[in-house]
Amino acid sequence: MTTTRAWCAYPNHLARDPSSTLEDIERVRVGERTTEVEVRRLTVPRCVARFDEDERDDVRDVDVDATADDLCEVDIVIDVDRGTIASVRRASREDRGELIATDETRLIVNAEGRMCLPTFADVHTHIDKAHTCERSRNINGTLAGADAACANDFKYWTVEDAKRRMNFALRCAYAYGTSALRTHLMSGEDAQSKIAWDAFVSLRDEWKGKLELQGVSLSVLSFFRDKTKARSLAQMVKSRGGVLGAAVSCSDAGGTPLDPLTTCGEDMPELLDVVFSLAKEFDLDIDFHCDENGNESSKGLLYISEAVIRNKFEGSVVCGHCCSLAAQPNEEAKRIINAAREAGVTVVSLPTVNQWLQDRDPKGEATPTRRGVTRVKELASAGVPVCFSSDNTRDQFFEYGDCDMLEVFRSSVCIAHLDRPFGSWPLAFAAIPARAMGMNEKSGLIVRGAKADLIFFRARNYSELFSRSQHDRVVIRDAFRICTTLPDYEELDQS
Ligand SMILES: [Zn+2]
Repeated sequence: MTTTRAWCAYPNHLARDPSSTLEDIERVRVGERTTEVEVRRLTVPRCVARFDEDERDDVRDVDVDATADDLCEVDIVIDVDRGTIASVRRASREDRGELIATDETRLIVNAEGRMCLPTFADVHTHIDKAHTCERSRNINGTLAGADAACANDFKYWTVEDAKRRMNFALRCAYAYGTSALRTHLMSGEDAQSKIAWDAFVSLRDEWKGKLELQGVSLSVLSFFRDKTKARSLAQMVKSRGGVLGAAVSCSDAGGTPLDPLTTCGEDMPELLDVVFSLAKEFDLDIDFHCDENGNESSKGLLYISEAVIRNKFEGSVVCGHCCSLAAQPNEEAKRIINAAREAGVTVVSLPTVNQWLQDRDPKGEATPTRRGVTRVKELASAGVPVCFSSDNTRDQFFEYGDCDMLEVFRSSVCIAHLDRPFGSWPLAFAAIPARAMGMNEKSGLIVRGAKADLIFFRARNYSELFSRSQHDRVVIRDAFRICTTLPDYEELDQS
């Protein structure tokens, strides 16, 4: 008879009680006194590891080894009491044991070359709309169809409904290994805004210590024409501890006279100045939706970058989507990218959703030819921080998805060709978005002193990682295993 052992030897007793509730995040330690776990031979992307002996590595510095996909093996020591990483060293090949208890307080685990990533930062989501696609369907699958069906869904919204759906999305994100998440919240209409923000603020309190949550106001740029309403929006965002947002050149007709709501004709620079001056007055960061279309005339990213410089804005500015940059001639794309770099803007690409939504024939007859992704490689090589994020989850803008950043990583690699070489792209799913969110500089890195927030996978390389769903991944937070069971869809049914 053969016996099988669990593939991940990270000690089970270092687990939060699987039945623990959000209110009960006390660490559970069953009859053990482990204070230190050494995990040997973990395979990690070279760009996320900072070795003890050269901690001053620059974040973008990478040893390029195309044959090994820029992966390397490390030995790490986890300080269980502090919940932090105590040491990161290049793996020594000597020890081939499995699970060795050296004494009562120290455990050594051999990961046998399995992969590990820092927990994810999902910087652009819409959890207030999550899980509404069945009750309010996007009839033709286009962005315009999504906007119409989304407006129609508001009739179902209550704080209870929004909280149920948002919490479901957060439980999934947490179980998949996300530790920070920013969501846009519908803020154009008072009634909807109140529901979205009430639900969000209440959940932010409940998830404190488990998920770093940030909320962004989402309204169209033309909203800022009414200075009184715009000012009270900024005031509300400040009082809720949020980020100011707006949709700029962001409809199917973005950049054309047919888009009075988000392009606003020649008034765009003036309206952007209103956004920036309010952000300065109330000391807010800014997060835009921009250029979510394939129109060459759509240049929201350029206008926003110019507005950052013109207004001498020093806060964090994030621009999501930027799809139309792919439609620009090369020289014009270069000009826009240079402006973005000069302005210090962070760009977020949302390939999973935009591949579904962009370049779609409303009649469903023509095959899409565009990939829905911005020029991530050109942006990154020009020095613009680039992140990838999940965007929508089972709503009118994307009918699938589950807030799993590994799925986003995988689809981004395929859609944007991030794998020849992988280089520093793994930073775009944790460290770079964490910085855009203003988090600790060690967030998203495997470095001494960082929180022991890690995901262990059964896979030993990218082809194994991306060929299966990795549903059996092990997530540790503050050195403790968390429960990774996903909620059942039945929980979303109205009670
Ligand atoms: Zn979005």
